Order: sequence, then structure tokens, then C-alpha cells
Amino acid sequence: MTAPNPDERPAETAVIGDALSPKGPDLIRWRHHLHQLAETAFGEYRTASFVADIMRSLNIDVTTGIGGTGVVGTLTRGTSRRSIGLRSDMDGLPIQERTGLEYASRQEGSMHACGHDGHMTMVLGAAAALAEDENLDGTVHFVFQPAEEPGEGAAAMIADGLFDRFPMDAIFGLHNIPGLQAGQLATRAGAIMAGEDNFVITITGRGGHASAPQRVIDPLVVSAHIVIALQTIVARSIDPVSSAVVSCTDVTTDGARNAIPTVVRITGDTRNFEPEISSFLERRIREIAEHTARAHGANAEVVYTREFATTVNHPDATAMAIRVAASVVDAEFCDANTPPIMASEDFGVYAGHVPANFTLIGNGVDGATGGLPLHSHDYDFNNAVLPVGVRYYCGLVREILS
Ligand SMILES: [Zn+2]
Ligand SMILES: [Zn+2]
Repeated sequence: MTAPNPDERPAETAVIGDALSPKGPDLIRWRHHLHQLAETAFGEYRTASFVADIMRSLNIDVTTGIGGTGVVGTLTRGTSRRSIGLRSDMDGLPIQERTGLEYASRQEGSMHACGHDGHMTMVLGAAAALAEDENLDGTVHFVFQPAEEPGEGAAAMIADGLFDRFPMDAIFGLHNIPGLQAGQLATRAGAIMAGEDNFVITITGRGGHASAPQRVIDPLVVSAHIVIALQTIVARSIDPVSSAVVSCTDVTTDGARNAIPTVVRITGDTRNFEPEISSFLERRIREIAEHTARAHGANAEVVYTREFATTVNHPDATAMAIRVAASVVDAEFCDANTPPIMASEDFGVYAGHVPANFTLIGNGVDGATGGLPLHSHDYDFNNAVLPVGVRYYCGLVREILS
């Protein structure tokens, strides 16, 4: 895929104001192209090559294959050692798109249902604008990561030397949020997105004929007790001013309609903002599962895994993000202390290594124009948001490197 010719104007033209030169690239066309490519975690080959080609066409140094399909574009001006990272995720979701859009995904069974096509376009738009900025003094790294959805891409890029090969003083990211006014910017210092842990409880009893309960140890009944008891963790033992979620999301058995199973598996998901709460959830899930099973003569084994780090915004990076956001949008569109949300985000891994800020950008409140929920088969990123994100990213870079 070669980079689009910026002079070739399609029917739909991006309104980008002064963020780009008059001959600037077409954000909407890039976004729609990326939307059609929609590749899932660690399979973002064509997506990666598209963003790499665009950056090469802007004379930005490009490194590919970082942590799998990750790409970093590096733009250096002047002599300063200051540096900043702008990060976008690249992956789509394994969801069959049903938007009916002209530019709907061409990949059977995968779509950009989380707006990562828009995130990439905003970083590319910033790259295009900054590549023409002669006043910068320092280095910008444009970081395109694979596999945000399973929470593995950031760690993969870091393990592949992201921060050693591309040192940066701070890193910034945006995620669109349906339900907030289009272009509204919302962030906060401290935890903004929850950490996510998962668990699998395997309950082993003794299966048998459905007509002879006296001969079995029924793990399904045990699992029902456990599912209910797990709901007491947050309700009865977490401080009400803290936040946590314990959700059982699936129960499977090895039984038939007329047989009591021997094994039942409960899978689930927990959310929290603090490592102490995460440890507490793990301990209580183990205690409840193991002891409840034992009380019924069964056995329970718990596997508890940590999937997403909590995204914790650095105070200095966040102060800068708020200052820049306030210069990009009107005061009523800038929320400097938005409530944290229980969803999780791979960006939290970067925040554990360098000062970082993650900001939410409103995708709109009306259904068809940005208000439909993330991860739904009819969701679409709102093009009206693109120029706001580009200006915000350019503002951050100019704040640090000018
Ligand atoms: Zn998502
Ligand atoms: Zn996402």
C-alpha cells in the first residue's frame, strides 16, 4: 500500500483548520482506508505497512516489527535531547461489522469497533503537521502498537526495547468515548482506567446419572453457591469509597442433559484501581471458591491472572495535557478531573515506565454520529473528532519541543 497522494482530493474532505498546511493529507480518507483494513491483535500487517508508508512519505524515520507488528516513526529537529511519544493502538476486534457503511471493513469477521482507526489517523495527522514544523527542537516518536484489545501489545513493544531504542521523556495517548460530546477532552491525574484481572475456577466433583443425586458430588450446585458468594466480596468487604468489580462471565460443564457433570468451570473478570485491591480480590476469590467447594465435598482450583495494568496518569504530564486541551477546545469541552472508568486500557503499561497521560476524547452523544457504544457491531469513529485530536497532539509536542 503506497501513501495517498495529498493533492488528490476525494469527495469527502477533512476540515483541519490550521493544523495542517493547505496541501495537507486527507484525514478522513486515511481513516476510512484503515477502517476497511481492520486487522486483529498481532495480525496488523497491512495496517502497519500503511502507517509506515505514510510516515515515510513525510520523511519521518520508520522502524517496523517492534513487538510483532508495532511501528515507531521518529522525527528529530534541532539539537535538544527532549523527546515525547504519541501512541496509537492499531488493532480491530473479532466482530462482524454491521454498519452498512460504504467504507465498512473488508475483512470478514473483524472490524474497528473501538475506533483505533481514528486513533491512528489522529497520530498520523499530527505527524504530517509536525513534519512541516521548522520550529521544533527535539524528538517525537509516533508509536503504533499492536494488540491493545487483549492487553498484550504495549508489553510486547516494551519487551522489544521500545523505551531503550526510542527514549522518551513522556508519552501521551487518546481514546474516543461515545457518550461524551464530540471533541470533548477529559482526563485526570492519577488512576483514570481500571486494572483488569481474570480468573478461572475449576470445580471437580463426581458426576453421574441425573436421576441419582445420592451417588454424586454435584459441582454445578457448588458452582452456583460460589457465583453468589463471589458477589459478597465487593458488597461486603471492599470499602465503599474504593471501587472494584467482580463479574462471573461464563460457566461451562462437561455434562450432558441427563448427567450430572464431574467438572464445572467458572470464568470471570475483576476490575480495580489499586494493587492492594487486586491482591485482596485474588485472596477472597481463592478462599470462597476453595472453602465452598470443600464444604460440599468437592474441590476447587483457582487460576488468577493480571491482564491489564491500571492506567495511572502522571501529575506533570497531566497538567501539561490539561493546559494543551484548554488551548484546543472551549472551556466547557475540557474536563480536567473526569471520573475514572472501570474499563481497562493497555496504555497503563507505558505509564508504569515513563511519565504518561491518557486522555479521553468524546466521540459524540447521538447514536449514528459517534454515540453508539464501543465494541458494538454498528459503532463508528466520528470523523468530526479527528482535527481536535490532531491539534491536541501537535499542541503537546510544541509545548515540549518548541
Ligand atoms: Zn476496545
Ligand atoms: Zn480501544
